[in-house]
Amino acid sequence: MSKPMGPIPPSFRADDEMLLIGGRRSDTLIGEAGDTPLFVYDFQMVEHKVERFRVAFPNVQLHYAIKANSYEPLLKNIARLVDGLDVASAGEMEMALRAGAAADRISFAGPGKRDSEMAAAMAEGITINLESEGEAQRAVAIGNSQSIRPRLAVRVNPDFEIKGSAIRMSGGARPFGVDSDRVSDLVRSLIEAKADWRGFHIFAGSQSLSADSLIDAQAATLDLAAALAEKIGVPPPLVNLGGGFGIPYFAGEKPLDVEAVAKALNRKLASRATILAETVFAIELGRWLVGEAGVYLTRIVDRKVSHGKTFLVTDGGLHHQLAASGNFGQVVRRNYPVAVANRFGQMSGEEVSVVGCLCTPLDRLADDVMLPRAEVGDVIAIFLAGAYGLSASPQAFLGHPQARETVVGVS
Ligand SMILES: *Cc1c(COP(=O)(O)O)cnc(C)c1O
Repeated sequence: MSKPMGPIPPSFRADDEMLLIGGRRSDTLIGEAGDTPLFVYDFQMVEHKVERFRVAFPNVQLHYAIKANSYEPLLKNIARLVDGLDVASAGEMEMALRAGAAADRISFAGPGKRDSEMAAAMAEGITINLESEGEAQRAVAIGNSQSIRPRLAVRVNPDFEIKGSAIRMSGGARPFGVDSDRVSDLVRSLIEAKADWRGFHIFAGSQSLSADSLIDAQAATLDLAAALAEKIGVPPPLVNLGGGFGIPYFAGEKPLDVEAVAKALNRKLASRATILAETVFAIELGRWLVGEAGVYLTRIVDRKVSHGKTFLVTDGGLHHQLAASGNFGQVVRRNYPVAVANRFGQMSGEEVSVVGCLCTPLDRLADDVMLPRAEVGDVIAIFLAGAYGLSASPQAFLGHPQARETVVGVS
């Protein structure tokens, strides 16, 4: 029995059976890059996503969480389109600055910030999203010692999470954020310490495809922000409502109805508490913006049969695309959408498993899928490689060549 795969994003087309990415032939792109494995990112697809967000959410700022994909040529172009970049390490902070983002549009979240990292962020004028009371004390002390008035926001660990969200980061005991019942005391102490309090960061989960769950989570987030602001007695300049917009990776998953989420949020914002009247709201997104725009191209180097099962062995693998192998947070391995890039649109002719070149049974890129018959030298395309691809993979493992990356569709 063959196994299903996730949906190929519907905008992909072929020219004479050669997969086109951003209107460019994938064999040409590989030739220009020099070799496989190659990640190709179509910037136009990202632009379309941004445009769709702008139309749907006219009164909400858009932030990009750069951990989804921080490839510099892509990041530079995204930085021009969005209102803010959210970083989660000093390394990402450097990348955001190099990409040309103004410091006052960068916010720095994430547990375990070192003193030196907070000092560097403050010196630039970057907002630090505090993850704990201890971090807050250290930040205030660093500000005093450097005679800087630090820009500080508080990340809130809400008592709820996005229902059914694939990646849980809130609700109950978490390393992220300050428990919501302790937030008002902390913010008051920041204001007393003369810090520049920037507001709240409330992130309730990731990879949700359910509009209803996101609508409920956003409504609860807005209510929580209002209740905290009332308790503090000072309006927050910014409320980062989190994100969590998912994309369909696996068979049977349907795209998120973003417009339904927007309609509900826009209505909720229109009737928000007066203490939030002047507050700016932001949504921070990663995978929804860039995930579908990336394709990982890897060449077949061997075709073999074992116990009646056909394996296509490629020059890529989990060292570049860990998520597709099922080893990045999946409980049960399921197939990402894959195709033979140079036989795109051909009828499926055989059941195969696509594996990588790593000497570990974990290195499976597609299990028991139906594909057109492929030969050594053909190229496998793995879709949905734009987010948590190379940057989230153990590239050094086993010493194979590094992946190449390229961006198309930049005008
Ligand atoms: C990872 C992360 C994101 C991005 O999540 P996506 O699922 O890629 O949209 C946004 N905000 C925070 C705080 C994160 O940790």
